[in-house]
Amino acid sequence: NLSLRLKRVAAHVHREAVMADIGSDHAYLPCYLILEHQVVYAIAGEVNEGPYQSAHNEVQAANLQNKISVRKGDGLEILSPNEADVITICGMGGQLISSILEKGKTKLQGVKRLVLQPNVGADTLRKWLKKENWILVHEEIIKEDGKIYEILVADRVEKEQPYTEKEELELLLGPFLMKEKNEVFFDKWKGELHQWENILKQMELSESPDLAERKASLQKRIDSVKEELIR
Ligand code: SAM
Repeated sequence: NLSLRLKRVAAHVHREAVMADIGSDHAYLPCYLILEHQVVYAIAGEVNEGPYQSAHNEVQAANLQNKISVRKGDGLEILSPNEADVITICGMGGQLISSILEKGKTKLQGVKRLVLQPNVGADTLRKWLKKENWILVHEEIIKEDGKIYEILVADRVEKEQPYTEKEELELLLGPFLMKEKNEVFFDKWKGELHQWENILKQMELSESPDLAERKASLQKRIDSVKEELIR
């Protein structure tokens, strides 16, 4: 049974697509999408031997070898140009996902959609998407087993993404998520605020003058997130 987290990722993969799941581990997501007849072909990429073997075994056990290609390699290097319509990268930090995309940029030609699920650092990913002219078309924030996950769906565009004057905050909180402001969103940012305020308290105890700038910028971030939460 697929986790809610990966089900919500699956919900944004186009019907009839060829999809590639990078860092697939057990290849649960590709197996699910094929078994549900949602995609016509899937590629599961893994850089590490253990997870690669897990993916391989899972696909064998489900007898899906003719529908899922399990490949070993770093990031997008396992893809041929124009091979996949949709790429999913889930369960890693936003920084790692961004670096996989950045390194494999040439393989993104022909890719129509990215469905990304960063465990932390979604803001890093939003910045990368904006820089590379991918437009966010949807975001989700969900809670499963006490953990909070964000899902970012981005399509390729010719023109630049229309962020507003609140750009900095939108990159941090997510333009869709801050409009929706669901319960999990409040949960997440109340938790972050709590942590930041503790950091600020620690900083205040220190006399070090070179902290002044960091203190001010943290205070500014706290104020703007707080203001957004009560809007
Ligand atoms: N995507 C699955 C999920 O969301 O449940 C598995 C997440 S698991 C925490 C992260 C996986 O990414 C690991 O199996 C790891 O081996 C793989 N990984 C990390 N860096 C990678 C890279 N550069 N290329 C391919 N796979 C990578």
